[in-house]
Amino acid sequence: SDRQPKYKRILLKLSGEALMGDEDFGIDPKVLDRMALEIGQLVGIGVQVGIVIGGGNLFRGASLHAAGMDRVTGDHMGMLATVMNALAMRDSLERSNINTRVMSAIPMSGVVEHYDRRKAQRYLNGGDVVIFSAGTGNPFFTTDSAACLRGIEVEADLVLKATKVDGVFTDDPVKNPDAEKFSVLSYDEVLIRKLGVMDLTAICLVRDHHMPVRVFNMNKTGALLNIVVGGNDGTLIAG
Ligand code: UDP
Repeated sequence: SDRQPKYKRILLKLSGEALMGDEDFGIDPKVLDRMALEIGQLVGIGVQVGIVIGGGNLFRGASLHAAGMDRVTGDHMGMLATVMNALAMRDSLERSNINTRVMSAIPMSGVVEHYDRRKAQRYLNGGDVVIFSAGTGNPFFTTDSAACLRGIEVEADLVLKATKVDGVFTDDPVKNPDAEKFSVLSYDEVLIRKLGVMDLTAICLVRDHHMPVRVFNMNKTGALLNIVVGGNDGTLIAG
């Protein structure tokens, strides 16, 4: 491709739900393969890609807790769910001949490597995709916070949050046809307008470290590549 990347290193946040496709639970391998194709296009133009995957397609601590389970136990299950998703994503990427490393914030010897920031940076420099799993390793956090944290730690140029809609809207665009999309938002606007794009922990983290975040529609083929070469898809949250 003759398209020049605008960003050298990105951190892509994929929700667990995105991996379900049209299923009600679990993983749709067709969706994974499509994502692997799109991620491969970034690698193909020399972009270094870190990925944080959620676990909402399998377990969420808050939902398990609402059903009566101890919250911390539920969060541990949620974090383990992200490791399963990461393994599935690696499998799909490697079948597309993209070298992929999975690291986990929770040590899981024999299954995946333990997260080590300097090692992760070496892998990224070498062109490998690195999937950061098990969130932050702590209960009461989300994988959005993990994505912002890892993005800042490995010095990504941009955090990309993949969603099912075209960006951040004044209201839920699925329920309200009059909802308008923001093209740019400041961190403070997200907080003041109480836009539920990411949790407060995640927003405060990126604000304090001036990490730009772009929210975009992963179901739109080519959007990811377009952003990485400088396109304006979705909503940019920056300071
Ligand atoms: N989780 C956690 N700490 C973290 C990240 C995730 O305890 O640092 C747990 C939490 O229970 C969460 C679940 O893992 O509900 C799955 O992550 P998340 O809900 O962020 O996944 P997504 O909504 O992106 O699919």
